[in-house]
Amino acid sequence: MTTIKLHNTKTRKKSEFTPIDAKNVRMYVCGPTVYDRAHLGNARPVVVFDVLYRLLREVYGADHVTYARNFTDVDDKINKRAADSGRSIGEITDETIQWFLDDMGALGALEPNHMPRATQFIPHMVAMIEDLIAKGHAYAAEGHVLFAVDSWRQGYGQLSGRSVDDMIAGARVEVAPYKKNPMDFVLWKPSDAGQPGWESPWGRGRPGWHIECSAMSYELLGKTFDIHGGGNDLMFPHHENEVAQSCCANGDDSFAKYWLHNEMLQVEGKKMSKSLGNFFTVHDLLDQGVPGEVIRLVFLQTHYRKPMDWTEKKAGEAEATLRKWRALTAGIEPAKEAPKEIVTALADDLNTSSALFYLHAIARDIPKEFVEINPKYTKADLLAGAQLLGLLTEELGDWVSQPDFDLSSYEAKLTAARDAAMQSKDFAEVDRLKTRFIAAGIEVRMSKAGVELVPGQDFDLAKLEGLA
Ligand code: AMP
Ligand code: ZN
Repeated sequence: MTTIKLHNTKTRKKSEFTPIDAKNVRMYVCGPTVYDRAHLGNARPVVVFDVLYRLLREVYGADHVTYARNFTDVDDKINKRAADSGRSIGEITDETIQWFLDDMGALGALEPNHMPRATQFIPHMVAMIEDLIAKGHAYAAEGHVLFAVDSWRQGYGQLSGRSVDDMIAGARVEVAPYKKNPMDFVLWKPSDAGQPGWESPWGRGRPGWHIECSAMSYELLGKTFDIHGGGNDLMFPHHENEVAQSCCANGDDSFAKYWLHNEMLQVEGKKMSKSLGNFFTVHDLLDQGVPGEVIRLVFLQTHYRKPMDWTEKKAGEAEATLRKWRALTAGIEPAKEAPKEIVTALADDLNTSSALFYLHAIARDIPKEFVEINPKYTKADLLAGAQLLGLLTEELGDWVSQPDFDLSSYEAKLTAARDAAMQSKDFAEVDRLKTRFIAAGIEVRMSKAGVELVPGQDFDLAKLEGLA
């Protein structure tokens, strides 16, 4: 079996991944807060952990991996959006969840096995909070319940590598009179009449953000599970607080064994932000005609632990690559197994850029002599390898057959020439046309069923001038 190595934030080392139960490998990833369209940065963890999910399924079998990713559907940003728009919270969260699934589907992300919504797990959160109070790790004060970081000094800060004292010195913590320690964080807070709320032992209120992931991962994956993922902006405080809650409720050695964090996405070398005018959503790009598969390929070119830069140049190059690979592999079946070089690259802490390098080598984009790879690989291996990365799949392929140019009149011309040649046995005109098409970068496919012209990477419309 392939050995997977992963960089574990907890140990700050790359180490061999051994699942707790190889028959049920379990992964939890923090999902979006659903009040607006996902921006391009939000898509990065989705694509990163989709590749990991695909790799785990490849190595352990598709039925032996459980992937959960939540929707945060209770949050003050959602309340504000509802108040500003005059729409109900449910309408906004339902709509946003569907947008998210559509946009991430367009990037070729498989849907996780579980996609829990926070609002479906309120009783579980209340039970966990009660348990934390009973064990002396939390206290109620003025309608709030707070986690007491002093009750778990030995563990708090380990994931992100900070001590409680450093945190107090460095952090902009919300100071509140009811907090025993300024680092104590909210598990439950009171709701006024206009805010969403649920009855609880501490009055009508709503959960803090962190408790939702602790409660839902426990319900869906158990006390202890294999991998927890998210963007590195979530490492502190969100993930640190998840660890504290879960370990204190379920036992010190519980919760996730491996923590993976992706780095941030930037745009043309700058942080994406509304004030810089370089902020856009996945939907904006799709709307502009950038295929989801192109976005995916650009993402995979950068290792997940490095900052990645989205540029138009990269998108253009990725599109040319995919057009070429799709033309090369059109109509063929993938090999039974992905090339081992590709599996090995991914198993090395998701080295997607190395995996892509091998795909380029198989596609002969790079001269053979520069790459150590089995020379016998064919287009079928290219296809199988690409599909392990979620590329060149059937679902993502429609964009290639929707070129900006319409070649049907040329197809009709070639069909007519061929029909005439069948009668006259003179194929000179057919050959002349084929030569012109090939020179224009078009792949000519002729079969009994008909004639098909497929524009390739070097397609040049101008070279067809005077032919129609
Ligand atoms: P949020 O809805 O803000 O909680 O973010 C959802 C996910 O997107 C989290 O895993 C974040 O870490 C991730 N994320 C947000 N901004 C970026 C970015 N610029 N680059 C990469 N990931 C991001
Ligand atoms: Zn979370």
